[in-house]
Amino acid sequence: MSEALYYKTIGELNGLMDSGEISSVELMQSVVDRTQSVEERVCAFNSFDAEGALAQAAESDKRRAAGETRGPLDGIPVGIKDVLAVKDQPLTCSSKILADFISPYDATCIQNLKQAGAILWGRLNMDEFAMGSSTENSSTKTTSNPWNLDCVPGGSSGGSAAAVAAGEAIVSLGSDTGGSIRQPASHCGIVGLKPTYGRVSRYGLAAFASSLDQVGPMGRNVADVAHLLQAISGHDRRDSTSFKIDVPDFAAAIESFPGKQWTFGLPKEYFENAESAASLKAVEEAIEFYKGLGCAFKEISLPHTEYAVATYYIVATAEASSNLARYDGIRYTRRAESFDGKDSVDIYHQSRAEGFGEEVKRRVILGTYVLSSGYYDAYYLKAQKARTLIRQDFENAFAEVDAILAPTSPNPAFKKGALTEDPLSMYLSDIYTISANLAGIPGMSLPCGYSDGLPVGLQILGKPFHETDLLSIGHTFEAAHEYSREHPDL
Ligand code: GLN
Repeated sequence: MSEALYYKTIGELNGLMDSGEISSVELMQSVVDRTQSVEERVCAFNSFDAEGALAQAAESDKRRAAGETRGPLDGIPVGIKDVLAVKDQPLTCSSKILADFISPYDATCIQNLKQAGAILWGRLNMDEFAMGSSTENSSTKTTSNPWNLDCVPGGSSGGSAAAVAAGEAIVSLGSDTGGSIRQPASHCGIVGLKPTYGRVSRYGLAAFASSLDQVGPMGRNVADVAHLLQAISGHDRRDSTSFKIDVPDFAAAIESFPGKQWTFGLPKEYFENAESAASLKAVEEAIEFYKGLGCAFKEISLPHTEYAVATYYIVATAEASSNLARYDGIRYTRRAESFDGKDSVDIYHQSRAEGFGEEVKRRVILGTYVLSSGYYDAYYLKAQKARTLIRQDFENAFAEVDAILAPTSPNPAFKKGALTEDPLSMYLSDIYTISANLAGIPGMSLPCGYSDGLPVGLQILGKPFHETDLLSIGHTFEAAHEYSREHPDL
């Protein structure tokens, strides 16, 4: 049986649209129908506008008919994590405090997608303000893992991952501060790439921890991810941390694996966790695959790995406490419904108490504490030093190897509710992803097998601005396996 339109690749869809076999409107309709049939179970979206999306598709069809197609994303539905500003659309960050907010402008990556002709499709659920690893911290709903509806999809970009796995979008955008693209991609059996810090503009991304946040692509295969990365990459004068560096041809680069003699590093700290034995099996088999291709392997050490989670939760909460100060019930966020205070300080208190969920409050309190004058040196400054050591670990490793292979997550998706009472265990589930954000390097998760019927991801970490390496390494594995063609039974 041939695959439904909503599960086809961007390359295939372009072929079908170019030859006139299908229109973008038909593709969009297939995604809308699919969404209407599975969304009640998957719960990936905070909101979507089917009519608006079909109108965008009709515009794309007109361009194609006139020979003015803007590239591979023209007419392709892209789901958007509800943390990115899309003009005149809701932007909630899955928080009550932004429940009524409509964005007055486009994020740079959204502007880029519009220029590429992509269809902006729906706002995808997430952990509130991207704080979490399961999407259970959303104030709106809990998204289900399409592979097992009792399990979480991972987080914080859980809606972005679940929608793509379930065929409710062709590709999607997520954001990754400590693993939020890679971990849900791993749990939902799709590809997710966190670009190098500075590769993609953060303008219009609601800030969580500005020195760690990156927007990135999620898709069912490496080529789709490459197309999306192409559209959103590049310098932006509105984000002073975005880099002035050439953007390579990512789609072309995926074929470049055979031209190079690769040496891969295996960080011993990432393979000693006994807990992950079952999901490690798939990762180890993927490593065997590359050995079979003649790639060289080296055991490496990232000796400061044990400090990564602690360092992250100091740096990230410190930045979050400052970034989230703007949500005060006065400027543009929702004022406490029960407001009965006397002055503006009461408005802040009551609006924030009502508007923020528990995890967000926990982090604002933690962040304020580590920045307070009495504890700044002991926590924040110490964490910044640890961050430098973690970055140096990678610099040392990359002097010897081209890329690092590792698990994405210590375990596959867990049952809903399993970790909600235990924030510390939840934090530890990001142990293999967090260091890449602290070091600023790119990382990608790629489906490499299953453990008890749940997808497992292989993580590939690369040198700064070497996303092309991740894509070509990943594509080579993908091309020899069926995982990108396997879909959950919904
Ligand atoms: N799970 C991590 C956290 O809770 C990472 C989140 C993210 O990358 N946005 O902070």
